[in-house]
Amino acid sequence: MMLTKLKGGKVYDPANQVNGEVRDLYVRDGRIVAAPVHDERTHCEYDLTGHIVMAGAIDLHTHIGGGKVNIARAMLPEDHRRDIVARTSLTRSGCGHAAPATLTTGYRYAEMGYTACFEPAVLPMNARQAHMEMGDTPIVDKGGYALLGSDDFLLRMMAAKSDQKAINDYVAWTLNSSHCIGIKVVNPGGISAFKFNQRAMDLDEDHSYYQVTPRQILTVLARALSDLGVPHPLHVHGCNLGVPGNVATTLETVKAAEGLPMHLTHIQFHSYGTEGDRKFSSGAARVAEAINQNKNISTDVGQIMFGQTVTASGDSMTQFRNAPFGRPKKWVVMDIECDAGCGVVPFRYRDTNFVNALQWAIGLEIFLMVSDPWRIFITTDHPNGAPFMSYPHLIKLLMDKTYRNSMLDTINPDAAAESTLASLTREYSLYEIAIMTRAAPAKILGLTDRGHLGPGAGADITVYSDDADKQKMFAQPRYVFKDGELVVQNGKITKVSWGNTHVVKPEYDKSIEQPLKTYFERYQTMRMDNFKISDDEMQEFGHANKLLSHPCRKQT
Ligand SMILES: [Zn+2]
Repeated sequence: MMLTKLKGGKVYDPANQVNGEVRDLYVRDGRIVAAPVHDERTHCEYDLTGHIVMAGAIDLHTHIGGGKVNIARAMLPEDHRRDIVARTSLTRSGCGHAAPATLTTGYRYAEMGYTACFEPAVLPMNARQAHMEMGDTPIVDKGGYALLGSDDFLLRMMAAKSDQKAINDYVAWTLNSSHCIGIKVVNPGGISAFKFNQRAMDLDEDHSYYQVTPRQILTVLARALSDLGVPHPLHVHGCNLGVPGNVATTLETVKAAEGLPMHLTHIQFHSYGTEGDRKFSSGAARVAEAINQNKNISTDVGQIMFGQTVTASGDSMTQFRNAPFGRPKKWVVMDIECDAGCGVVPFRYRDTNFVNALQWAIGLEIFLMVSDPWRIFITTDHPNGAPFMSYPHLIKLLMDKTYRNSMLDTINPDAAAESTLASLTREYSLYEIAIMTRAAPAKILGLTDRGHLGPGAGADITVYSDDADKQKMFAQPRYVFKDGELVVQNGKITKVSWGNTHVVKPEYDKSIEQPLKTYFERYQTMRMDNFKISDDEMQEFGHANKLLSHPCRKQT
């Protein structure tokens, strides 16, 4: 029963309304505990005077495992060569800048003070592979969102006008079988429509074969998650990603939620107008206004940062359209059984390019115009907008308007002139950054014992040395504790652990397996029983780490 004391740090813990107060924290058996009543001996003490203390950061949307990430790794040897990580006595070697290896991914996240990462596009057919890769990602906790909405089974159900109850059973069965914590929909129905030679599909446009619309798909899936009481709302990558004028679609997508909780991911890529000489403009103000007015909507930005990266997405329709812009010139678009598809296109965002420069400004505009930090999250949609290593730089852009404006002066002048960024004077506080990167993601994922520093929480704690340069401060924490163990000191790994896997297991009527069994035998390459991943398998993938199942609140 070792007791550790973290003494005298300035604590930012928004979930418990603690805003920069100097406090002591106590840790026992991997958990934060209340201050001992009697003069109990502490076994280990850290003097954190002058330091900033927050819960470990949580990235709720980062592509770290599964088919498309592996394709990105395989097709970009140049990405490995330019970023090689040597082994140390504790850590193994690795490589990769935009698509790093699993081990390098875990080390780097931990070294930045992150203690949980969620892979947003787990194809159920490929979930085993995704979990194996995540299980091989050290230190951080993991979780995945299962991809539905372009899978033939759901589209058949909808075409046959199945009732909502049957769809709920299928959604719950998918979450259980794939060991995921949420459901994501990518270009709803569009990945399937692409296979039927549709090259675009707007929110109210019919799938040419199934005769269902993206709006209908969003509505039944959002309803299913609400009925099942799954904490994380439907995670939506909407229609028309990257298409000028898609702001209109995004505003309609907000309405398609019909008041139910919905998370709109990488909203920056969905906030484009068609004004100006180049027919490409910012829709940030309209999108931010819609988010401010609709409390059921949350979002993450998918900020782009300048430089080389790779885009890896389930949205094969979009990636096929983007293929000619690939740098270096190569791309993959592939079909994945009856579930979905994916596309991988390497990309270089340039600050001299009008469109890229305006994309950068649009993301920042959204950050600064959405008023409630509990409903907007810091992401670059790693690696689509930029590798996750750019987060400290992004935080500095949000916290320091002088620095932000000095960057604005260096981008394509026409894009800078089109943007309202210079007029936005907001600077995020440390308290707000702690909300966006800790308290709010934990809340929206239903992780009651993460993202805060109250008694009972898992002792995932990040300690920063205060610095006026926020990029420097967030890039290299003084200490990171994972489940109470010191894993990083001065930005370097001191211990390698393996983190937990977060899942939900909503209840369902087992009779859904009858039509599924027939469907698998008729159309899929594996039997239904092999498709389902067992708890035992999950433990094996994850270096015998813990499966943490979060309760679903049944709605009445
Ligand atoms: Zn994404």
